[in-house]
Amino acid sequence: MFEKILIANRGEIAVRVIRACKELNIKTVAVYSEADSNSMHVQMADEAICLGKAPANESYLKVERLISAAEITDVDAIHPGYGFLSESVHFADICEKCNIKFIGPSPNAMKSLENKAVSRDLAKKAGVPIPPGSDGPVENEQDALAVSKKIGYPVLIKAIAGGGGRGMRVAHNDISLVRGFHTAKSEAEKAFGDAGVYIEKFIENPHHIEFQILGDNKGNIIHLGERDCSIQRRNQKIIEETPSPLIENKFKDLRKKMGKAAIRIAQEAKYTNAGTVEFIVDDKGNFYFLEVNKRIQVEHPITEEVTGVDLVKMQILLAAGEPLKLPDVQIRGHAIECRINAEDPYDDFKPSPGTIGIYYPPGGKGIRLDSHIYSGYSVPPYYDSLIGKLIAYGKDRREALTKMIRAMSEFVVSDIKTTIPFQLEILKDPNFARGSYSTNFVDKFFESAGRKEVIEEKM
Ligand code: ADP
Ligand code: ADP
Ligand code: MG
Repeated sequence: MFEKILIANRGEIAVRVIRACKELNIKTVAVYSEADSNSMHVQMADEAICLGKAPANESYLKVERLISAAEITDVDAIHPGYGFLSESVHFADICEKCNIKFIGPSPNAMKSLENKAVSRDLAKKAGVPIPPGSDGPVENEQDALAVSKKIGYPVLIKAIAGGGGRGMRVAHNDISLVRGFHTAKSEAEKAFGDAGVYIEKFIENPHHIEFQILGDNKGNIIHLGERDCSIQRRNQKIIEETPSPLIENKFKDLRKKMGKAAIRIAQEAKYTNAGTVEFIVDDKGNFYFLEVNKRIQVEHPITEEVTGVDLVKMQILLAAGEPLKLPDVQIRGHAIECRINAEDPYDDFKPSPGTIGIYYPPGGKGIRLDSHIYSGYSVPPYYDSLIGKLIAYGKDRREALTKMIRAMSEFVVSDIKTTIPFQLEILKDPNFARGSYSTNFVDKFFESAGRKEVIEEKM
């Protein structure tokens, strides 16, 4: 077992990993940027090393500094969290070469799922359906037009290296396709340093349903059920739940089918450690593979609540070479998560950094809060605006939802704006209460409230 782990991340996920390490009796090393010196993860870890200035490319993304920090503190392993270097094959490779265990899939498994184009190829090989689209990257306008003609509009132009809901454009005809093709390429280059794009069929009003998987070094792979993440704004998840209401209410057999498909993909990639296989599902119950997130997922706690499995501890144990020996995973009850961001939902979700005044976190039975904030903490302007995740667990969906509404109403975070009031509106919406929603829920919600979201910019 590892004696000491360095956490190459910040915010709530760094705190989450440190907590798991403490319970496993593993020492921890935090790393931080100058802007994060007052961060909770720095105070919670046994040791802390400053990496450099605030922008991520001068600190959290500096591979050589992270490796030096790991060498100086003599750690056995690095946990990358999510975002930053968590899905970097290069970083995983260097860790391996330096004899530091990268807590994630093997570099080879990561390579076979490195971007959305190779992942589609792998899914094809595994016999799992993918949205109709181009074979690999699309290099020029003519090819883009030819593919779109073949699959039919609307289509989606997607960045091969895309992530975090960015780098996508819908096109409804030849004109918007040509325009979108060039803007998507230049946006992809700017955001991901890779201008590669491909085209797939735009599935209208789909449901986003993903499966949590775990794999050990012996080739054993299991799934731990699904998460429905269809409540999204601009392709970014804001509320997630498990089990999926669509599967529970409409397509009961999908859990088995999609779970099998997720495992087939993981087997094809010789996947190890924790991962998430993402799909979209249309109204008829057809499902299509999207991508594999080769890391711990933001919304992992809801799976933990209904399965009783600590996924971060599992990541650590599996990376240390332990075999998967979970008894048959049972799904019990229902869990919902709200991602709370420091943003003003009534001013186009403008980021709202600043110092937190009054802080009153909710509690009570069935309520879990994963967060790094406290009264007097200053939310820096440089990073993702996630300030915490509130998770409600109940014996069924109705109970989980009642608890979530109760807890969100108790939650006080003053002096900065948060998404809490907006999420409360969604939680109280009758369609949400019925579990009848797809990824277009938030747009429809804005429309019916007479609030203007810039629809054409949403992709
Ligand atoms: P999840 O599927 O866990 O919800 P997200 O797609 O929301 O994951 O991403 C989780 C975090 O990682 C977010 O902070 C997001 O900004 C960041 N992220 C994900 N992919 C990328 C990427 N390719 N480039 C930069 N940041 C990313
Ligand atoms: P990212 O790497 O940004 O997470 P994904 O491919 O996982 O990109 O897609 C993110 C979201 O974008 C999905 O959950 C879904 O809402 C939307 N989306 C992606 N592909 C399609 C598609 N072919 N048709 C309709 N919506 C899509
Ligand atoms: Mg995704």
